[in-house]
Amino acid sequence: VAKQNGSSQYRFYDAASDKSSQEEIRLEQELEQAVELNQLRLMYQPKFDIRNGEAIGYEALLRWDHPIHGEISPLRFIPLAEKTGMIVPIEQWVLRTACMQAKNWQKVGRPVVPIAVNISQVHLMKPDIYESIIETLEQTQLDAHLLELEITESAMMHNEEHVIEILDKLKAAGISVSMDDFGTGYSSLSYLHSLPISCLKIDRSFIRKITTDKDSKAIAEMIISMAKQLGLKIIAEGVETSEQVALLQELQCYNVQGFYYSRPLTAEQVDHAYVS
Ligand code: C2E
Ligand code: MG
Ligand code: MG
Ligand code: MG
Repeated sequence: VAKQNGSSQYRFYDAASDKSSQEEIRLEQELEQAVELNQLRLMYQPKFDIRNGEAIGYEALLRWDHPIHGEISPLRFIPLAEKTGMIVPIEQWVLRTACMQAKNWQKVGRPVVPIAVNISQVHLMKPDIYESIIETLEQTQLDAHLLELEITESAMMHNEEHVIEILDKLKAAGISVSMDDFGTGYSSLSYLHSLPISCLKIDRSFIRKITTDKDSKAIAEMIISMAKQLGLKIIAEGVETSEQVALLQELQCYNVQGFYYSRPLTAEQVDHAYVS
């Protein structure tokens, strides 16, 4: 039993949670070298226009191939990387790799569509994030209009002044920003209106129940009409069934991403797919 801060609160030793926190600390340390050891890679999930079935862009999604544990989900290791600050060099690697890949697809004559990269709140708060993104575009020779950043609604809720300033500069440079996981944060309508973003991504949690739960449908419908009113593009995440596609079409949400159309693919799989 450990006595904390000389107060009367006692914490009982919990072997299971102690073991799991040791495991997290070990993973944190291993993550420090994951970039250099070449253990990170990107998958690319296409986004589609349901009206013609064409790929309208790709989202780069990070994977960590751990030598012992195998593939570790970003949902598990991104929070660790945010805690240690490793997220910044990791996302710089993601940006460079994704931009190089998009440039490469352009060079070999594939349809020219934007590549989207997820940006963590921790990275977004770095004072030099703008300069570092511009430098990556220069190094990779990718046109700024072909880079999209995805930032979650909740990440945009911190330090609103800083966020607006950065997004303004990115927009002026031709880089577009999407609000990811929309509907799960608490942004006010006035803040949403003041943000220089170009697209809302409706969170998967609403799409999952859109054909079975009338509240989810109502929320999706409201988000779609609001996006239209505000002049924002809209895309539905996590589309898995033809029923969901039909309903989204009815609601006039024509851009989708999800397993129904395609899972995240390796760059090689993209090379061999969807060539129009
Ligand atoms: P996200 O940005 O919302 O990306 C979409 C996630 O939903 C991806 O999971 C994708 O594989 C999954 N998904 C897409 N379609 C479907 C579907 O139809 N059904 C289901 N069940 N899932 C679908 P993934 O790749 O595991 O990534 C999870 C999250 O990890 C991402 O959510 C994103 O928040 C984060 N992430 C991934 N890469 C990065 C990165 O480079 N930086 C940061 N900050 N976060 C990243
Ligand atoms: Mg995303
Ligand atoms: Mg999302
Ligand atoms: Mg999501």
